[in-house]
Amino acid sequence: MAEKLIVIGAGMASGRALEHLFETAPGAYEVTLFNAEPRGNYNRLMLSPVLSGEKTYEEIVTHDAAWYERHGVTCRFGEKVARIDRAAKVVISETGEELAYDRLLIATGSTPFMIPLPGHDLKGVVAYRDLEDTHRMIDLGAGVGPERTPRAVVIGGGLLGLEAAAGMAARGIEVTVVHIMGHLMERQLDESAGALLKAALEQRGIRVLCGANSKEIVGDNGHVAGLRLDDGRILPCDLLVMAVGIRPNAALGQAAGLEVNRAIVVDDHMVTSDPAILALGECVEHDGQLFGLVAPLYDQAKVVAATLTGAVARFVPQELSTKLKVTGCDLFSAGDFAEGEGREDIVFRDPARGIYRRLVLEGERLVGAVFYGDTSDATWYMGLIREKEPIGDRRDMLIFGPDFCGGHPLDPMGAVAASPAKDRTQGRNGMTQKIDMAGNSDRWLADTLAGRA
Ligand SMILES: Cc1cc2nc3c(=O)[nH]c(=O)nc-3n(C[C@H](O)[C@H](O)[C@H](O)COP(=O)(O)OP(=O)(O)OC[C@H]3O[C@@H](n4cnc5c(N)ncnc54)[C@H](O)[C@@H]3O)c2cc1C
Repeated sequence: MAEKLIVIGAGMASGRALEHLFETAPGAYEVTLFNAEPRGNYNRLMLSPVLSGEKTYEEIVTHDAAWYERHGVTCRFGEKVARIDRAAKVVISETGEELAYDRLLIATGSTPFMIPLPGHDLKGVVAYRDLEDTHRMIDLGAGVGPERTPRAVVIGGGLLGLEAAAGMAARGIEVTVVHIMGHLMERQLDESAGALLKAALEQRGIRVLCGANSKEIVGDNGHVAGLRLDDGRILPCDLLVMAVGIRPNAALGQAAGLEVNRAIVVDDHMVTSDPAILALGECVEHDGQLFGLVAPLYDQAKVVAATLTGAVARFVPQELSTKLKVTGCDLFSAGDFAEGEGREDIVFRDPARGIYRRLVLEGERLVGAVFYGDTSDATWYMGLIREKEPIGDRRDMLIFGPDFCGGHPLDPMGAVAASPAKDRTQGRNGMTQKIDMAGNSDRWLADTLAGRA
């Protein structure tokens, strides 16, 4: 008889794990799936295109009712698991029902962090995590009344905050982003790329305040009315979105007595401190590391499926990259781009075309990359970072991408010849520098390839 597998959380990580499980061992488990959200799995990443109106919810559903039915999954959507009794090997739902398991998979994701500012519990103060949050922002775009444009403040100039801001702006909402740090997306971008991004968002009518500290959320009749900054300014708003980070949803595991540090601790096989219980996704901690992007979760999902079927697989974290999903803002960041001893930068700037590239080398290896404006070669650079490949004699042409790094000896004229015709006819900035500089190759090489251009 098939063993009973209970899955807590129908998010991106468990969705992928179930896919692998059904591919490799169909029928091995009788699966029951609980999800606090009243639905199955959708592509959470794509909430931003739904917010901006570029996609519909139906287009981002990854596992629909038919899929679960086909695989014999019993779905308990809109139902939370309240407790795990490890001794009795049962989960207790919030309605008090007990369900037995042989193996349990915890995939509860994370919870948005809400800064406990005075007023944070007012109506209209929301996070950006799920479809309900997305709808609150979309509904605001439908208008607060015919007399004025709806206004929103987003606290947080990171990936999520900016996607929320751009999505709302696309719906005609007047948006101000309040960011405490000196430049946007400081964890992924350096100052120069952050400045280009800020300018691009401002061009879309989004107001961006960096180095701004929130002090209090101001209310009117129990509803948010504005955000007061510590310099006394008040930013009026009808909706306030907090996008300041996430916390792993590890409470169930903790209450059940599993080993929990910042999240539920798992080993290389995604098994918790209880051999009957596995966990994956943003609710886990592996080797001291937490997760907030989807790529490693997909690797974890393969390992979970293997472990559940008795095969041996190990989760090995890879280097990660980030892209901002705001149409027209091409941005890519990967690896470690902090300055440090023994590190060198190679920088390419083309302010006229809004293109910025920065590569960070440590000895013979590429360890970080930040691109703004043109991310077409991002995958190739990501490969170099991941594979830790020695750069060797490609160093001098590295900044120009794979087309110029075919293993040939340094030849600036070759680079010019290989560049698209349109690039060879532009003014003095950026790509033109290839031409000008090719003519003055010594200075070009000194300025550009030494990394201070
Ligand atoms: C708007 C947005 C954009 C993003 N963009 C990107 C991106 O571009 N690139 C990227 O790599 N990552 C992105 N992310 C992050 C990515 O979506 C997450 O890393 C990923 O969804 C986490 O998957 P998960 O399965 O761990 O958690 P989730 O997908 O959050 O799923 C967890 C599920 O568990 C449910 N749950 C929680 N507690 C219980 C309980 N007690 N009982 C039953 N169910 C429960 C929750 O309701 C939830 O549905 C984005 C996230 C958001 C919100």
